[in-house]
Amino acid sequence: MNVIADLHLHSKFARACSKDITLQNLEKYAMMKGINLLGTGDFQHPKWIAELKSQLNDDGKGILHTKTNYPFVLQTEISLIYSQDGKGRRVHNVVLAPNFETANQIIEYLGKKGRLDYDGRPIFSIPCPQFVDDLRKINKEIEIIPAHAWTPWFSVFGSKSGFNSLQECFLDQTKHIHAIETGLSSDPSMNWRVSGLDNVALISSSDSHSHWPWRIGREATVFSMNDLSYSELIKSIRENKIAETLEFYPEEGKYHFDGHRACGVCLTPNESIALKKICPTCKTELTIGVANRVEELADKPEGRKPANARPFRNLIPLSEIIAHVIHAPIASKKVWEEYLKLIVAFGNEIAVLSASFDDLKKYTDERIARAISHVDKVKWKPGFDGEYGVPLFEGKTATEFKPPKNSVLKSTQRGLSEF
Ligand SMILES: [Zn+2]
Ligand SMILES: [Zn+2]
Repeated sequence: MNVIADLHLHSKFARACSKDITLQNLEKYAMMKGINLLGTGDFQHPKWIAELKSQLNDDGKGILHTKTNYPFVLQTEISLIYSQDGKGRRVHNVVLAPNFETANQIIEYLGKKGRLDYDGRPIFSIPCPQFVDDLRKINKEIEIIPAHAWTPWFSVFGSKSGFNSLQECFLDQTKHIHAIETGLSSDPSMNWRVSGLDNVALISSSDSHSHWPWRIGREATVFSMNDLSYSELIKSIRENKIAETLEFYPEEGKYHFDGHRACGVCLTPNESIALKKICPTCKTELTIGVANRVEELADKPEGRKPANARPFRNLIPLSEIIAHVIHAPIASKKVWEEYLKLIVAFGNEIAVLSASFDDLKKYTDERIARAISHVDKVKWKPGFDGEYGVPLFEGKTATEFKPPKNSVLKSTQRGLSEF
């Protein structure tokens, strides 16, 4: 069976996240999106784990079910900040746990090293190799996955924070790193240029900070599993049994190109290299994005496909496509109505995004049907220095994704502005 999983999210207790991220909302919108398995997010947070324990039942196979039988897996993200070789390092890692008992032990371990209650993504000064070793001493079924591996500020390969290889970061524990999260600003084909990643699975998750369907599942991994259980999930990760990954267009990611948001400067890797990575406006160092960083670490040419490469598809969230075509804000009633019409017709968003033009136009405006089915021809205003990229359909200038002043979806406003 194929399971479409989003294994990296956050709860309402994480900073800069929507206060409406409840298990009920996650379940509701994951089903609308077409996601079959969600990470819980933030399992070490004292209030969130209490909710998880009171609302979810472990089926004995490490999958936690809501009362209406939607499956979750215990997941969190931990920020490790330390120095190595005289350089400050900041690496985010996603952690998956097989059951509440193991989660309790991880909480006890982390609780001895720092506070757990101020964020869903708490910071510790534990070096990555020690973190892996310590967690494996708790339970070898715990999976540690470097999160959004290429983003500049908090990742294993980040231009401002990271390392030049998994080995340099994880040292003798590298053998226990079976996957990396490619993040929104890179897709597998970019990662295929780094032969040092040939032996890890490339997985994709949303890192969502809200429950809305244009955030959760915006990236996801389709695992091929014998049954829905934690051990099968881990096996799929460790053995790269991935049917495909669902990806953002890397250009839409917030750190694809280089630049300075405050200075309004966005540059391609070649342009910023020509400027010696110095901002032409403020004369300080540019935020070097993912495309440039991949280029720096690549040892293979563009177009290279390693033997274990898995298929992937680039998708734009359906709400965004509709918003752009009808020139209305993403959180407006008009967009939402059109969105729901398609969800009712096709069952879920991933099914809509996979449908043909002929099928789509039976249920929606022809321009929307064309935008969905020809979405591969979209041009981009690429993301840089924390700003999302914007798709330019039919060459038109896109409406910015700013929520309206009197949004019908009040909580969306908050969710978006906090993101
Ligand atoms: Zn992170
Ligand atoms: Zn600048």
